[in-house]
Amino acid sequence: MILIVDDAPENLISLKKVLEKNDFEVDTASSGEEALKKILKKSYVLIILDVQMPGMDGFEVAEAISGYSRAKETAIIFLSAASANLNLITKGYSSGGLDYISKPVDINILLLKVKTFYRIYEQSRALNQMQTALREEIEFRKEAERKKDEFISIASHELKTPMTSIKGYIQLLERSLDKNDIETVRTRLHKVQNQVEKLNLLIADLLDISKIESGKLKFNRKYFEFEGLVSHIAEVMQQSNPEVKIIIKNKVATQIYADEMRIEQVIINFMTNAIKYAPDSEEIHISSELKGNNLCFSVKDFGIGMSPEHQQKIFDKFYRIEETSERFQGLGIGLYICQEIIERHNGIIGVHSIPGEGSEFYFTIPLNPEKEEIKNENNEF
Ligand code: ADP
Repeated sequence: MILIVDDAPENLISLKKVLEKNDFEVDTASSGEEALKKILKKSYVLIILDVQMPGMDGFEVAEAISGYSRAKETAIIFLSAASANLNLITKGYSSGGLDYISKPVDINILLLKVKTFYRIYEQSRALNQMQTALREEIEFRKEAERKKDEFISIASHELKTPMTSIKGYIQLLERSLDKNDIETVRTRLHKVQNQVEKLNLLIADLLDISKIESGKLKFNRKYFEFEGLVSHIAEVMQQSNPEVKIIIKNKVATQIYADEMRIEQVIINFMTNAIKYAPDSEEIHISSELKGNNLCFSVKDFGIGMSPEHQQKIFDKFYRIEETSERFQGLGIGLYICQEIIERHNGIIGVHSIPGEGSEFYFTIPLNPEKEEIKNENNEF
C-alpha cells in the first residue's frame, strides 16, 4: 500500500486518483503528524511525502520513521521544489530507498518511479521468502541428520544387547552340555530363542523402515476373521507376560479385507507398548467394535500416559518422549510403521492419553474397501 502525505487536499485527491487508476492501493495523510500515526499502525511499501508542510515537514517525518521497524522496507519519494536537503536525511534513513520529484509533479515520471519501487519491493520480498524457505530447509535437514545419527547409535545399542546375551547363554550352554545337564540346556536354549526373537523383531522393523522410505512396503490383502486374530495374539501375549492381565472388553465377529500379518504387527505393537509403558499396572484392555462401515480396535493401558503435545508427535519417525526415553528402551519406529500400515489400509490411527493415568491407542479401518480401491490395490502387486 502507498501512503500519500500532502497538506494540500487537491494534490492528495488527484494523486490518489491516478495511482488507484493504476491498480495501487492508496492511503492518505494531510500532515506529518497524521502520517506518523498511520505509519506506526500499518506497513507501507512506499510513502509519497510532500516536503513543505506546516508543522512537521517531510524531511522530519522521514527522519522520525527511520527508526521504526515497521518502516524498515518502506521507500520514500519526496515531492518538493527544493532538493538541497535530500542528502542530509539519507544518512539517517537506510530503508527501502529514497527518491525525489520536483513540483509541479510530472505524473508520468511519478508513476514510473512508483512502479520501479514496487518492482524492487516485490523482488526483495520474493528473495526474503526464498531465504526463509532455504533457512528452514537447512534447519530441517540438520535436524533429520541429527535424528538419524541418534537413531543409528540407539539401534546399534539395541542390537548389541540381545547379541551379548546370546553369546553369554551359548557359553553357559557349552558348560551345561559338558556336564550333560539336559534340563539346564533346555532352559538356556529357550533363553537364546527369546533373544533371537528380539533380534529378529528389531531387524524386521529396521527393514520395514527402509521399505517405507523406498515405497516398497507391499500388502497382501485378503478377507480374514478379525476377532480370531485378536484372540490368538492376546493368548500368546498373555503367556509371555503373565504379570499383566490382558482383558478383551469387547469383540466383533466380522471379517475384514486387509493384510493379516501387517494388522497383527500393529496390534502386537500397541500391546507391547501398553505393557512396556505401564510397568506398574496390572491390566490392559483390548476392544473391537463396529462404527458404521469401519472396524475400530483399541488397546488401553493404565501407565505413564503422555501430554497432548507428545500425542501429536509419537507417530513420527524416530520420535521418543525424551523424559521417559532413559527409563524405557526403544527405537521410536514402531508407531511410525503402524501409522504407515493403517493409512495404507485407508484407516486412521491415533491415541487418547492422560499423563499419569494411561493411554488408549486405536485404529479404524474400513470393513469393505470400495471396489475401486481394491482394484487399485491389486494393481500394486
Ligand atoms: P519405542 O517404544 O520403540 O520407543 P514407538 O514408535 O512404539 O517406539 O513409540 C514411540 C514413543 O511413544 C515411545 O518412545 C514412547 O515415548 C511413546 N509411547 C508409545 N506407546 C506408549 C504408551 N502406551 N504409553 C506411553 N507412551 C507411549
